[in-house]
Amino acid sequence: MILKTLFSQLLTRPVTNRFPVKYMPKSVTGLLKKVEEGEAKIHPPVPVPEKFRGKLIYDREKCIGCQLCIRVCPASVIKFKPEEKKIRIHVARCTFCSQCVDACPVGALSMSEEFLLADYDRFSGNLVVE
Ligand code: SF4
Ligand code: SF4
Repeated sequence: MILKTLFSQLLTRPVTNRFPVKYMPKSVTGLLKKVEEGEAKIHPPVPVPEKFRGKLIYDREKCIGCQLCIRVCPASVIKFKPEEKKIRIHVARCTFCSQCVDACPVGALSMSEEFLLADYDRFSGNLVVE
């Protein structure tokens, strides 16, 4: 039984996607440099399923500053900017629950398919949406 499973596994393609590259290079930083210079390409991540909840998208123009999203956010991720009557979202602490999206009366918030959010700085432009 074990041998049968072993052989079937040997002949089956992996269901996971090899990411960021098919074959891991000796130096990851070297690879990233090559990607930056256009000499190498990152293997695309797996397609995300329908209704995937990734990084929040905020439409500033639509926002009316009602603060409903702030009230429903369980992680206190959204801050109000009173001078502009707009919001700031700290994605690093977001739990991707989508409650703010559901609560927004004007559809100013939505969830993207973006999930590659690793960063050294939680306050970097990549992780602050405003
Ligand atoms: S998705 Fe959830 S945790 Fe993230 S900002 Fe919206 S309400 Fe807060
Ligand atoms: S719920 Fe919508 S309109 Fe209200 S502050 Fe949040 S993003 Fe703006």
